[in-house]
Amino acid sequence: MQTIGFIGLGIMGKPMAKNLLKAGYPLVVYDISEAAVKEVCECGAKAAASSAEAAKAADKYIITMLPNSPHVKEVVSGKNGIAEGCRSGQVVIDMSSISPIASRELGAELAKLGVTMIDAPVSGGQEKAEKGTLAIMAGGDEHAFEEAKPILEKMGATVTLVGELGAGQITKLVNQLIVGINISAVAEGMALAKKAGVDPRRVFEAIRKGLAGSQCLEDKAPRMFEGRYAPGFRINLHIKDLWNVLETSRSVGSSAPLSAQVLEMMIALANEGHEGLDHGSLGLYYEKLNNVSLKES
Ligand code: NAD
Repeated sequence: MQTIGFIGLGIMGKPMAKNLLKAGYPLVVYDISEAAVKEVCECGAKAAASSAEAAKAADKYIITMLPNSPHVKEVVSGKNGIAEGCRSGQVVIDMSSISPIASRELGAELAKLGVTMIDAPVSGGQEKAEKGTLAIMAGGDEHAFEEAKPILEKMGATVTLVGELGAGQITKLVNQLIVGINISAVAEGMALAKKAGVDPRRVFEAIRKGLAGSQCLEDKAPRMFEGRYAPGFRINLHIKDLWNVLETSRSVGSSAPLSAQVLEMMIALANEGHEGLDHGSLGLYYEKLNNVSLKES
């Protein structure tokens, strides 16, 4: 089987890399965290000394799973980056959630070296990353995507090509804005119920099977009732995604007032020291706004 380069072994990248190893792909991995590299090497991967080395050691595919655009730019075009180690015919699959604008810029840069780029961000979180059941939304050349699909299928339950390079990132932004707005709607509704003297849990039970029902309601309302805000998906990552929503909206002249509003709420939460909490902690924002507690005693 062909050797894959894998760069970025965090909450998501680590289990995704392990699933590729389990599927039999030899991996050459790199992360600035030596501990993360060590853990994945204990499962059978080989360590590279830099992103350039990981690219050099890869047969065709180099996967990146990094926090945001600046990290991916650094790993692709920075010192000892992929661009220094790659060769014509290789394919970079960026699975990080970054700005589609940055993704297209990097794609153009790599194209000059004869390297194809696919953007393939994911939805699903750590648990689905571990189970290999992520939703993967991709953008890029159709032929390159079809060839890479068997690899992506080792990490995801659904692997969908949405359009050209950047379309995967735009899809992810749509996902993130719907989720953020949906969670704030849940928190706003539950705070109203509490303030009006009606038990939020019973409101939840009454409405969950109706039109207001959603996966966000199912996952986040119980967290608010239990004060259970360990992540999950962290506020600081969602802030990053909503900044990317606004940057992208502005670049195409699309208006996104609700995303801007939710971003403000999340920044306020981060300023209170909650940046590491689950995004369900929008419940805390509404508790403070309304001087109520959603947590059941
Ligand atoms: P993370 O912060 O846990 O992991 C990122 C990894 O990248 C870290 O191990 C870090 O050391 C490494 N890194 C940073 N800069 C580097 C560099 N220059 N060279 C090499 N390695 C470098 O983040 P995560 O939770 O794994 O998320 C990764 C991406 O996936 C993000 O874009 C995030 O928005 C997205 N995502 C996360 C979740 C989730 O639930 N955590 C769900 C879906 C999508």
